[in-house]
Amino acid sequence: MIIQLQEDISDKQRESLLAEVINIGYKTTEVKTQLGDYIIGIGKKEFDIRKIGKKEGIKDIHIVSDEYKLVSKKWKAKPTSIDLGNGVFIKDGDMAIIAGPCSIESEDQIRKVIKHLKENDIKMMRGGVFKPRSSPYAFRGLGIDGLKLWYDLASEAGIKIVTEVMQVSQIEEMYPYTDIYQVGARNTQNFNLLDELGKVDKAVMIKRGISGTIEELLQSAEYVFSGGNEKLILCERGIRTYERASRNTLDLNAVPILKAKSHLPVIVDPSHGIGIRAYVPQMALAGVMAGADGIIYETHEIPEKAYSDGQQTLDFTQSALLADWIRKTFAMRKTFDLV
Ligand code: PEP
Ligand code: MN
Repeated sequence: MIIQLQEDISDKQRESLLAEVINIGYKTTEVKTQLGDYIIGIGKKEFDIRKIGKKEGIKDIHIVSDEYKLVSKKWKAKPTSIDLGNGVFIKDGDMAIIAGPCSIESEDQIRKVIKHLKENDIKMMRGGVFKPRSSPYAFRGLGIDGLKLWYDLASEAGIKIVTEVMQVSQIEEMYPYTDIYQVGARNTQNFNLLDELGKVDKAVMIKRGISGTIEELLQSAEYVFSGGNEKLILCERGIRTYERASRNTLDLNAVPILKAKSHLPVIVDPSHGIGIRAYVPQMALAGVMAGADGIIYETHEIPEKAYSDGQQTLDFTQSALLADWIRKTFAMRKTFDLV
């Protein structure tokens, strides 16, 4: 169960409420986020909801039987909208486009990508400064100095940035220079990292684990929410299957399923999803039609020269075309929503 508390609940009312929930045989966890206070009750026993519902200090009470609770749609039918400021949103009913290189490489590269984004009215840029690489000998990113440089140039241009945080110790140093923290596929179940991101009042985008189920992704989001941060975005980026013809298997089934199960926005990453440049646009558009609230893809002036993931990176001409097609496809999808 989820109990939403009133802002002005007194300590006495809170204690009496907790005692009542424990009394019916439920375990309780108190959750405090930037937006509200909740009591989560975990248990299986049937009980009369009116008995608790009529107690003082309660805004609302909901029965949520899913393993994940706070990220479930069962108690919050209204979709979560992520407001990044300056009129930039990631939300249901809208189409966020996030484009940029796999890795941030140099000031010159940042300037070129920003110019490309501005020319195409793309308001969010991706890029890694801490890179999780399968090989320790591959390029591992420019680190915090690269992030500072990038953030300054991007914010000057009115562009929001999405960048991966790999470990707890980076959260604080990244904070002034980050709009959205990305949790990478290799870290989806790094529960210490998720706990700590719960304490931050900035958006967090969680990628689906390399071999993670949809439910596990939602459980990871539940960690951050129950840690105190409601500003969450889910990202389908492909999973590892027996198929070797593509880098990963982009599970577009996950999009309508996540949208049905959770109130959080869902975005699709076709670049890591298929891993083959020539097929990224098709999978991006398929993601739009599947119901995504946004697409995140990799672009670089000269993909062949990119420090990482060049094989799945679009050049600026392809990126401009794709952004246009994403918008057109989204407009078409909206006409379906009306049916
Ligand atoms: C990335 O976005 O560059 C990245 C490393 O993604 P993932 O964690 O999905 O592999
Ligand atoms: Mn990449």
